[in-house]
Amino acid sequence: MSALVNAVKGLIQHLRAMGITLRYLFMKPVTVQYPEQPPEIYPRFRGRHELQRYENGLEKCVACGLCAAVCPSGAIYVEAAENDPEHPVSLGERYAKRYEINMTRCIFCGYCEEACPKGAIVMGHEFALADFGRHELVYSKEQLLEPARPHVIVKQV
Ligand code: SF4
Ligand code: SF4
Repeated sequence: MSALVNAVKGLIQHLRAMGITLRYLFMKPVTVQYPEQPPEIYPRFRGRHELQRYENGLEKCVACGLCAAVCPSGAIYVEAAENDPEHPVSLGERYAKRYEINMTRCIFCGYCEEACPKGAIVMGHEFALADFGRHELVYSKEQLLEPARPHVIVKQV
């Protein structure tokens, strides 16, 4: 008798499981066919950093070093230089002669973005950051600058 009860219970469980399978068979799939189909990114997602420019092409970063100071993992290195008034690189007295982020150290906390008084360093939506060597994951200023080639460069007044 107990064997019959167990068999019936097993059959019910199988039917319930099949019901779930059939239900999901006709639902819209939640999987994304990456990379052919790019996934939707949450607006506040913190991905790869970008160094911003003003519309006139001048760099927003003034090499104050706050982002490097606040970074909990010591991932940012900033080397400042004085701007040439005839050919300024940024709107401040100084600009970042060298700006590097070591992505192997970064924990994507976003502190650098919050600390920056100029809105120069922002975290974009790029997340495909895998590479073949550690050295390739130390991003230089040239790699981080957006847009890479400004439309126009105007003189500071
Ligand atoms: S996101 Fe955080 S860990 Fe990464 S560079 Fe910025 S402050 Fe450092
Ligand atoms: S990115 Fe911002 S906080 Fe960092 S050095 Fe440049 S201006 Fe200062």
